[in-house]
Amino acid sequence: MKDIIVQKFGGTSVADTDKIKNVARAVIREKNLGHDVVVVVSAMGHTTDILTKLAKDITPNPSAREMDMLLSTGEGVSIALLAMALQAQGCDAVSMNAMQVGIITEKVHTKARILDIKTDKIRKYLDEGKVVVIAGFQGITDDYEITTLGRGGSDTSAVALAGALEAERCDIYTDVEGVYTTDPRIVPCASKLKEISYDEMMELASGGANVLHPRAVETAMTHNTPVRVRSTFKLEDYGTLILGVDKMELHRPVTGVASDMSQLRIVVCDVKDNPGVAASLFDGLAAENISIDMIIQSYARKELHTNDIAFTIDKSDIDKAMGVLEKLKSELCYSNVFVDDKIAKISIVGAGMVGRPGIAAKMFRTLANLGINIKMIATSEIKISCLVDKDNANKAVETLHTVFGLDSNEIADVKGDLPNV
Ligand code: ADP
Ligand code: ASP
Ligand code: MG
Repeated sequence: MKDIIVQKFGGTSVADTDKIKNVARAVIREKNLGHDVVVVVSAMGHTTDILTKLAKDITPNPSAREMDMLLSTGEGVSIALLAMALQAQGCDAVSMNAMQVGIITEKVHTKARILDIKTDKIRKYLDEGKVVVIAGFQGITDDYEITTLGRGGSDTSAVALAGALEAERCDIYTDVEGVYTTDPRIVPCASKLKEISYDEMMELASGGANVLHPRAVETAMTHNTPVRVRSTFKLEDYGTLILGVDKMELHRPVTGVASDMSQLRIVVCDVKDNPGVAASLFDGLAAENISIDMIIQSYARKELHTNDIAFTIDKSDIDKAMGVLEKLKSELCYSNVFVDDKIAKISIVGAGMVGRPGIAAKMFRTLANLGINIKMIATSEIKISCLVDKDNANKAVETLHTVFGLDSNEIADVKGDLPNV
Protein backbone atom coordinates (compact mmCIF):
# COMPACT_ATOMS: atom_id res chain seq x y z
CA MET A 1 0.00 0.00 0.00
CA LYS A 2 1.34 3.45 -0.95
CA ASP A 3 1.51 6.42 1.41
CA ILE A 4 -1.48 8.74 1.10
CA ILE A 5 -0.99 12.49 0.72
CA VAL A 6 -4.00 14.78 1.12
CA GLN A 7 -3.71 18.03 -0.85
CA LYS A 8 -6.12 20.92 -0.21
CA PHE A 9 -6.52 23.83 -2.62
CA GLY A 10 -8.29 27.00 -1.48
CA GLY A 11 -10.58 29.35 -3.41
CA THR A 12 -7.86 31.52 -5.02
CA SER A 13 -6.04 28.38 -6.21
CA VAL A 14 -9.10 27.26 -8.21
CA ALA A 15 -10.46 30.73 -9.08
CA ASP A 16 -10.70 30.09 -12.85
CA THR A 17 -10.25 27.27 -15.34
CA ASP A 18 -6.57 28.05 -16.01
CA LYS A 19 -5.90 27.86 -12.28
CA ILE A 20 -7.80 24.56 -12.09
CA LYS A 21 -5.57 23.19 -14.87
CA ASN A 22 -2.55 24.40 -12.86
CA VAL A 23 -3.89 22.59 -9.76
CA ALA A 24 -4.26 19.42 -11.84
CA ARG A 25 -0.54 19.68 -12.67
CA ALA A 26 0.30 20.01 -8.95
CA VAL A 27 -1.78 16.91 -8.21
CA ILE A 28 -0.12 14.89 -10.97
CA ARG A 29 3.31 16.02 -9.69
CA GLU A 30 2.47 14.56 -6.27
CA LYS A 31 1.13 11.33 -7.77
CA ASN A 32 4.31 10.98 -9.83
CA LEU A 33 6.31 11.12 -6.59
CA GLY A 34 4.76 7.72 -5.88
CA HIS A 35 1.90 8.63 -3.55
CA ASP A 36 -1.80 7.90 -3.51
CA VAL A 37 -3.44 11.32 -3.67
CA VAL A 38 -6.69 12.60 -2.20
CA VAL A 39 -7.51 16.20 -3.12
CA VAL A 40 -9.86 18.53 -1.25
CA VAL A 41 -11.03 21.71 -2.94
CA SER A 42 -12.86 24.88 -1.96
CA ALA A 43 -15.37 26.77 -4.07
CA MET A 44 -13.93 28.82 -6.96
CA GLY A 45 -12.66 32.30 -6.04
CA HIS A 46 -15.27 34.35 -4.20
CA THR A 47 -18.16 31.95 -4.95
CA THR A 48 -19.12 31.51 -1.28
CA ASP A 49 -19.29 35.30 -0.77
CA ILE A 50 -21.35 35.70 -3.96
CA LEU A 51 -23.80 32.97 -2.87
CA THR A 52 -24.08 34.57 0.58
CA LYS A 53 -24.92 37.91 -1.03
CA LEU A 54 -27.60 36.29 -3.22
CA ALA A 55 -29.25 34.89 -0.09
CA LYS A 56 -29.12 38.27 1.69
CA ASP A 57 -30.70 39.91 -1.38
CA ILE A 58 -33.66 37.56 -0.91
CA THR A 59 -33.99 37.96 2.87
CA PRO A 60 -31.86 39.45 5.67
CA ASN A 61 -32.41 36.31 7.77
CA PRO A 62 -32.15 33.23 5.55
CA SER A 63 -32.65 29.95 7.41
CA ALA A 64 -29.45 28.17 8.33
CA ARG A 65 -30.58 24.96 6.61
CA GLU A 66 -31.18 26.71 3.29
CA MET A 67 -27.85 28.57 3.63
CA ASP A 68 -26.14 25.17 3.83
CA MET A 69 -28.08 23.93 0.81
CA LEU A 70 -26.92 27.02 -1.10
CA LEU A 71 -23.29 27.35 0.03
CA SER A 72 -22.49 23.66 -0.38
CA THR A 73 -23.10 23.99 -4.15
CA GLY A 74 -19.88 26.02 -4.58
CA GLU A 75 -17.55 23.13 -3.78
CA GLY A 76 -19.65 20.84 -6.03
CA VAL A 77 -18.60 22.88 -9.06
CA SER A 78 -14.86 22.78 -8.32
CA ILE A 79 -14.62 19.01 -7.67
CA ALA A 80 -16.19 18.16 -11.03
CA LEU A 81 -14.03 20.66 -12.93
CA LEU A 82 -10.82 19.48 -11.25
CA ALA A 83 -11.64 15.82 -11.94
CA MET A 84 -12.22 16.76 -15.61
CA ALA A 85 -8.92 18.69 -15.72
CA LEU A 86 -7.06 15.67 -14.29
CA GLN A 87 -8.70 13.31 -16.78
CA ALA A 88 -7.85 15.72 -19.63
CA GLN A 89 -4.19 15.58 -18.52
CA GLY A 90 -4.23 11.78 -18.62
CA CYS A 91 -4.72 11.15 -14.90
CA ASP A 92 -7.52 8.84 -13.79
CA ALA A 93 -9.65 10.79 -11.28
CA VAL A 94 -13.07 10.73 -9.65
CA SER A 95 -14.93 13.47 -7.77
CA MET A 96 -17.00 12.87 -4.62
CA ASN A 97 -19.18 15.12 -2.52
CA ALA A 98 -19.58 14.75 1.26
CA MET A 99 -22.66 12.58 0.89
CA GLN A 100 -20.89 10.16 -1.46
CA VAL A 101 -17.91 9.90 0.89
CA GLY A 102 -19.88 9.83 4.13
CA ILE A 103 -18.47 12.88 5.94
CA ILE A 104 -20.85 12.70 8.88
CA THR A 105 -21.37 15.84 10.97
CA GLU A 106 -23.48 17.06 13.85
CA LYS A 107 -26.84 18.52 12.89
CA VAL A 108 -25.72 22.10 13.40
CA HIS A 109 -26.25 24.15 10.28
CA THR A 110 -23.53 26.60 9.10
CA LYS A 111 -20.91 25.48 11.67
CA ALA A 112 -21.14 21.72 12.00
CA ARG A 113 -18.36 19.59 13.44
CA ILE A 114 -17.24 16.37 11.75
CA LEU A 115 -18.15 13.25 13.74
CA ASP A 116 -17.01 10.49 11.42
CA ILE A 117 -15.61 9.88 7.94
CA LYS A 118 -16.20 6.68 5.97
CA THR A 119 -13.06 5.72 4.08
CA ASP A 120 -14.03 2.49 2.30
CA LYS A 121 -15.14 4.07 -0.99
CA ILE A 122 -12.14 6.43 -1.09
CA ARG A 123 -9.77 3.49 -0.51
CA LYS A 124 -11.48 1.47 -3.23
CA TYR A 125 -10.92 4.28 -5.76
CA LEU A 126 -7.30 4.73 -4.60
CA ASP A 127 -6.70 1.00 -5.05
CA GLU A 128 -7.96 1.38 -8.62
CA GLY A 129 -5.20 3.97 -9.14
CA LYS A 130 -7.51 6.98 -9.18
CA VAL A 131 -6.97 10.41 -7.69
CA VAL A 132 -9.99 11.12 -5.47
CA VAL A 133 -11.21 14.74 -5.52
CA ILE A 134 -13.43 15.57 -2.54
CA ALA A 135 -15.59 18.62 -1.82
CA GLY A 136 -14.34 20.55 1.21
CA PHE A 137 -16.52 22.54 3.62
CA GLN A 138 -19.58 20.26 3.37
CA GLY A 139 -20.90 17.39 5.44
CA ILE A 140 -23.99 15.29 5.88
CA THR A 141 -25.93 14.39 9.01
CA ASP A 142 -27.00 10.84 9.76
CA ASP A 143 -30.46 11.76 8.49
CA TYR A 144 -29.12 13.08 5.15
CA GLU A 145 -29.25 16.80 5.85
CA ILE A 146 -26.51 18.86 4.15
CA THR A 147 -24.32 20.86 6.54
CA THR A 148 -21.30 23.15 6.22
CA LEU A 149 -18.35 23.50 8.58
CA GLY A 150 -18.13 27.30 8.86
CA ARG A 151 -16.21 29.77 6.66
CA GLY A 152 -12.74 28.50 5.84
CA GLY A 153 -13.85 24.98 6.73
CA SER A 154 -12.29 23.18 3.74
CA ASP A 155 -9.01 23.15 5.69
CA THR A 156 -10.80 21.12 8.37
CA SER A 157 -12.26 18.72 5.77
CA ALA A 158 -8.76 18.08 4.42
CA VAL A 159 -7.08 17.54 7.78
CA ALA A 160 -9.95 15.33 9.02
CA LEU A 161 -9.71 13.21 5.84
CA ALA A 162 -5.93 12.95 6.33
CA GLY A 163 -6.54 11.75 9.90
CA ALA A 164 -9.21 9.22 8.89
CA LEU A 165 -7.04 7.86 6.06
CA GLU A 166 -3.91 7.85 8.26
CA ALA A 167 -2.25 9.95 5.57
CA GLU A 168 1.46 10.66 5.57
CA ARG A 169 0.83 14.41 5.46
CA CYS A 170 -1.80 17.02 4.67
CA ASP A 171 -0.63 19.82 2.38
CA ILE A 172 -2.67 23.04 2.48
CA TYR A 173 -1.97 24.87 -0.79
CA THR A 174 -2.87 28.54 -0.73
CA ASP A 175 -2.00 31.96 -2.15
CA VAL A 176 0.95 32.66 0.21
CA GLU A 177 4.13 30.61 0.64
CA GLY A 178 3.47 29.40 4.17
CA VAL A 179 2.66 30.62 7.67
CA TYR A 180 4.26 34.00 8.35
CA THR A 181 4.92 35.84 11.60
CA THR A 182 1.84 37.90 10.71
CA ASP A 183 -0.41 38.40 7.68
CA PRO A 184 2.09 39.22 4.88
CA ARG A 185 -0.61 41.15 3.03
CA ILE A 186 -0.84 43.61 5.94
CA VAL A 187 2.82 43.65 7.02
CA PRO A 188 5.06 43.13 3.98
CA CYS A 189 8.15 42.56 6.15
CA ALA A 190 6.52 39.52 7.85
CA SER A 191 8.89 36.54 7.99
CA LYS A 192 8.02 33.07 6.76
CA LEU A 193 8.27 30.40 9.45
CA LYS A 194 9.99 27.13 8.63
CA GLU A 195 8.06 25.31 11.37
CA ILE A 196 5.40 26.13 13.93
CA SER A 197 3.89 24.01 16.72
CA TYR A 198 0.25 22.90 16.69
CA ASP A 199 -0.38 24.94 19.85
CA GLU A 200 1.04 28.16 18.44
CA MET A 201 -0.75 27.68 15.12
CA MET A 202 -4.00 27.06 17.01
CA GLU A 203 -3.63 30.35 18.89
CA LEU A 204 -2.70 32.26 15.72
CA ALA A 205 -5.64 30.77 13.79
CA SER A 206 -8.07 31.53 16.64
CA GLY A 207 -6.55 35.00 16.79
CA GLY A 208 -7.59 35.66 13.19
CA ALA A 209 -4.74 34.27 11.02
CA ASN A 210 -7.12 32.82 8.46
CA VAL A 211 -4.35 30.96 6.61
CA LEU A 212 -5.67 27.91 8.52
CA HIS A 213 -9.07 27.18 10.03
CA PRO A 214 -8.68 26.76 13.84
CA ARG A 215 -10.57 23.46 13.84
CA ALA A 216 -8.18 22.13 11.19
CA VAL A 217 -5.30 22.66 13.60
CA GLU A 218 -7.26 21.04 16.45
CA THR A 219 -7.98 18.03 14.22
CA ALA A 220 -4.33 17.74 13.13
CA MET A 221 -3.26 17.82 16.76
CA THR A 222 -5.72 15.06 17.70
CA HIS A 223 -4.48 12.72 14.97
CA ASN A 224 -0.88 13.96 15.12
CA THR A 225 -1.05 14.63 11.37
CA PRO A 226 1.82 16.72 9.99
CA VAL A 227 0.38 19.66 8.05
CA ARG A 228 2.29 21.75 5.55
CA VAL A 229 1.07 25.15 4.38
CA ARG A 230 2.54 25.95 0.96
CA SER A 231 1.99 27.92 -2.22
CA THR A 232 -0.06 26.69 -5.17
CA PHE A 233 1.90 29.00 -7.40
CA LYS A 234 5.44 28.04 -6.21
CA LEU A 235 5.37 24.27 -5.91
CA GLU A 236 9.10 23.94 -5.23
CA ASP A 237 8.82 26.04 -2.06
CA TYR A 238 9.03 24.07 1.20
CA GLY A 239 6.31 26.12 2.94
CA THR A 240 5.72 25.83 6.69
CA LEU A 241 5.49 22.55 8.57
CA ILE A 242 3.09 22.40 11.52
CA LEU A 243 4.01 19.78 14.08
CA GLY A 244 4.29 18.92 17.77
CA VAL A 245 6.21 21.27 20.05
CA ASP A 246 8.70 18.61 21.14
CA LYS A 247 10.39 18.81 17.76
CA MET A 248 10.75 22.57 17.88
CA GLU A 249 13.61 24.75 18.99
CA LEU A 250 12.32 27.73 20.91
CA HIS A 251 14.23 30.88 20.08
CA ARG A 252 12.00 33.90 20.40
CA PRO A 253 9.35 34.56 23.06
CA VAL A 254 6.87 35.62 20.39
CA THR A 255 6.39 33.60 17.18
CA GLY A 256 3.59 35.59 15.57
CA VAL A 257 1.05 38.41 15.74
CA ALA A 258 -2.57 38.13 14.57
CA SER A 259 -5.58 40.41 14.29
CA ASP A 260 -9.24 39.48 14.13
CA MET A 261 -11.93 41.92 13.05
CA SER A 262 -14.74 39.38 12.83
CA GLN A 263 -15.97 39.83 16.39
CA LEU A 264 -18.06 42.35 18.30
CA ARG A 265 -18.29 43.11 21.99
CA ILE A 266 -21.50 43.01 24.03
CA VAL A 267 -21.60 44.68 27.45
CA VAL A 268 -24.49 43.71 29.72
CA CYS A 269 -24.74 46.39 32.44
CA ASP A 270 -25.89 46.09 36.05
CA VAL A 271 -26.70 42.39 36.21
CA LYS A 272 -27.48 41.04 39.68
CA ASP A 273 -24.39 39.97 41.64
CA ASN A 274 -25.85 36.54 42.50
CA PRO A 275 -24.68 32.96 41.97
CA GLY A 276 -26.02 31.54 38.70
CA VAL A 277 -26.37 34.81 36.76
CA ALA A 278 -23.37 34.19 34.48
CA ALA A 279 -24.45 30.55 34.14
CA SER A 280 -27.93 31.58 32.92
CA LEU A 281 -26.52 34.11 30.46
CA PHE A 282 -23.95 31.76 28.92
CA ASP A 283 -26.30 28.74 29.01
CA GLY A 284 -28.77 30.80 26.97
CA LEU A 285 -26.08 31.72 24.43
CA ALA A 286 -24.76 28.14 24.25
CA ALA A 287 -28.28 26.82 23.57
CA GLU A 288 -28.23 28.96 20.40
CA ASN A 289 -24.79 27.61 19.43
CA ILE A 290 -23.12 30.97 19.93
CA SER A 291 -19.39 30.67 20.67
CA ILE A 292 -17.98 33.12 23.19
CA ASP A 293 -14.39 34.26 22.99
CA MET A 294 -13.30 36.87 25.56
CA ILE A 295 -15.24 37.39 28.82
CA ILE A 296 -14.81 40.02 31.53
CA GLN A 297 -16.95 40.36 34.64
CA SER A 298 -16.38 43.64 36.44
CA TYR A 299 -15.66 44.01 40.14
CA ALA A 300 -19.02 43.91 41.99
CA ARG A 301 -20.56 47.21 43.14
CA LYS A 302 -21.36 46.03 46.67
CA GLU A 303 -23.82 48.79 47.56
CA LEU A 304 -25.92 48.16 44.41
CA HIS A 305 -25.39 44.41 44.41
CA THR A 306 -24.65 44.50 40.65
CA ASN A 307 -21.80 44.17 38.17
CA ASP A 308 -21.27 44.24 34.38
CA ILE A 309 -20.47 41.33 32.10
CA ALA A 310 -18.74 41.95 28.77
CA PHE A 311 -18.02 39.30 26.15
CA THR A 312 -17.14 38.95 22.48
CA ILE A 313 -18.89 36.85 19.82
CA ASP A 314 -18.73 36.48 16.07
CA LYS A 315 -20.52 39.34 14.27
CA SER A 316 -22.77 36.89 12.43
CA ASP A 317 -24.31 35.77 15.75
CA ILE A 318 -25.52 39.21 16.87
CA ASP A 319 -29.24 38.73 16.08
CA LYS A 320 -29.38 35.42 17.93
CA ALA A 321 -27.47 36.89 20.90
CA MET A 322 -29.83 39.88 21.17
CA GLY A 323 -32.78 37.46 21.10
CA VAL A 324 -31.26 35.51 24.02
CA LEU A 325 -30.67 38.71 26.02
CA GLU A 326 -34.23 39.87 25.41
CA LYS A 327 -35.56 36.52 26.68
CA LEU A 328 -33.39 36.70 29.82
CA LYS A 329 -34.14 40.35 30.65
CA SER A 330 -36.41 39.67 33.62
CA GLU A 331 -34.12 36.97 35.02
CA LEU A 332 -30.86 38.97 34.73
CA CYS A 333 -32.44 42.37 35.56
CA TYR A 334 -29.80 44.24 33.52
CA SER A 335 -30.19 47.97 32.92
CA ASN A 336 -28.61 48.29 29.45
CA VAL A 337 -26.90 46.34 26.67
CA PHE A 338 -24.14 48.00 24.62
CA VAL A 339 -22.88 46.54 21.34
CA ASP A 340 -19.51 47.64 19.94
CA ASP A 341 -18.73 46.28 16.48
CA LYS A 342 -15.77 48.55 15.71
CA ILE A 343 -13.26 46.39 17.52
CA ALA A 344 -10.25 44.24 16.68
CA LYS A 345 -8.60 41.55 18.74
CA ILE A 346 -4.81 41.75 18.56
CA SER A 347 -2.90 38.68 19.76
CA ILE A 348 0.76 37.88 20.28
CA VAL A 349 1.53 34.16 20.32
CA GLY A 350 4.63 32.18 21.27
CA ALA A 351 5.46 28.95 23.10
CA GLY A 352 8.65 30.77 24.13
CA MET A 353 6.73 33.21 26.38
CA VAL A 354 6.14 30.47 29.00
CA GLY A 355 8.12 31.37 32.11
CA ARG A 356 9.47 34.61 30.63
CA PRO A 357 8.20 37.58 32.63
CA GLY A 358 7.56 40.97 31.04
CA ILE A 359 5.99 39.94 27.71
CA ALA A 360 2.51 41.23 28.63
CA ALA A 361 3.99 44.45 30.03
CA LYS A 362 5.92 45.00 26.80
CA MET A 363 2.75 44.50 24.74
CA PHE A 364 0.72 46.91 26.89
CA ARG A 365 3.55 49.51 26.88
CA THR A 366 3.81 49.29 23.09
CA LEU A 367 0.06 49.92 22.70
CA ALA A 368 0.22 52.75 25.26
CA ASN A 369 3.08 54.43 23.36
CA LEU A 370 0.86 54.36 20.27
CA GLY A 371 -1.96 56.00 22.26
CA ILE A 372 -4.12 52.87 21.86
CA ASN A 373 -6.66 52.12 24.58
CA ILE A 374 -7.11 48.48 25.64
CA LYS A 375 -10.77 47.47 26.07
CA MET A 376 -10.36 43.84 27.14
CA ILE A 377 -7.47 41.46 27.81
CA ALA A 378 -7.36 37.67 27.63
CA THR A 379 -4.42 35.32 28.06
CA SER A 380 -3.47 31.69 27.73
CA GLU A 381 -0.08 30.17 28.55
CA ILE A 382 1.23 31.03 25.08
CA LYS A 383 -0.99 33.96 23.99
CA ILE A 384 -1.91 37.48 25.06
CA SER A 385 -4.88 39.15 23.34
CA CYS A 386 -6.00 42.78 23.63
CA LEU A 387 -9.24 44.20 22.29
CA VAL A 388 -8.70 47.62 20.69
CA ASP A 389 -10.48 50.02 18.33
CA LYS A 390 -10.63 48.57 14.81
CA ASP A 391 -9.00 51.68 13.31
CA ASN A 392 -5.87 51.01 15.37
CA ALA A 393 -5.51 47.35 14.40
CA ASN A 394 -2.96 47.55 11.59
CA LYS A 395 -0.78 50.07 13.42
CA ALA A 396 -0.79 47.83 16.51
CA VAL A 397 0.10 44.69 14.54
CA GLU A 398 2.93 46.38 12.63
CA THR A 399 4.48 47.91 15.75
CA LEU A 400 4.19 44.75 17.89
CA HIS A 401 5.75 42.80 15.02
CA THR A 402 8.77 45.12 15.06
CA VAL A 403 9.02 45.41 18.85
CA PHE A 404 9.07 41.62 19.29
CA GLY A 405 11.84 41.28 16.67
CA LEU A 406 9.82 39.55 13.95
CA ASP A 407 10.54 41.80 10.93
CA SER A 408 12.21 39.86 8.13
CA ASN A 409 15.48 41.82 8.44
CA GLU A 410 15.64 40.81 12.13
CA ILE A 411 15.40 37.03 11.96
CA ALA A 412 17.62 34.56 10.17
CA ASP A 413 16.59 33.27 6.76
CA VAL A 414 14.20 30.45 7.48
CA LYS A 415 13.94 29.16 3.94
CA GLY A 416 17.37 27.47 4.02
CA ASP A 417 18.41 24.23 2.44
CA LEU A 418 15.50 21.93 3.16
CA PRO A 419 14.39 18.62 1.69
CA ASN A 420 11.95 18.96 -1.15
CA VAL A 421 9.17 16.67 0.14
P1 ADP B 1 -7.52 29.87 0.86
O1 ADP B 1 -8.54 30.41 -0.09
O2 ADP B 1 -6.37 29.21 0.14
O3 ADP B 1 -8.11 29.00 1.92
P2 ADP B 1 -7.30 32.06 2.75
O4 ADP B 1 -7.63 33.41 2.19
O5 ADP B 1 -8.33 31.39 3.58
O6 ADP B 1 -6.84 31.14 1.54
O7 ADP B 1 -5.95 32.12 3.61
C1 ADP B 1 -4.77 32.66 3.05
C2 ADP B 1 -4.61 34.10 3.51
O8 ADP B 1 -4.38 34.10 4.92
C3 ADP B 1 -3.40 34.79 2.95
O9 ADP B 1 -3.67 35.35 1.70
C4 ADP B 1 -3.07 35.84 4.02
O10 ADP B 1 -3.53 37.13 3.65
C5 ADP B 1 -3.86 35.39 5.25
N1 ADP B 1 -3.05 35.30 6.47
C6 ADP B 1 -3.42 35.83 7.68
N2 ADP B 1 -2.47 35.61 8.60
C7 ADP B 1 -1.48 34.92 8.00
C8 ADP B 1 -0.21 34.40 8.43
N3 ADP B 1 0.20 34.53 9.70
N4 ADP B 1 0.57 33.75 7.52
C9 ADP B 1 0.15 33.60 6.24
N5 ADP B 1 -1.02 34.08 5.76
C10 ADP B 1 -1.84 34.73 6.62
N1 ASP C 1 -15.76 27.95 0.39
C1 ASP C 1 -15.80 28.07 1.83
C2 ASP C 1 -15.48 29.52 2.24
O1 ASP C 1 -15.24 30.35 1.39
C3 ASP C 1 -14.88 27.11 2.53
C4 ASP C 1 -13.39 27.36 2.32
O2 ASP C 1 -13.00 28.05 1.38
O3 ASP C 1 -12.61 26.81 3.11
O4 ASP C 1 -15.50 29.82 3.41
MG1 MG D 1 -8.98 29.41 3.83
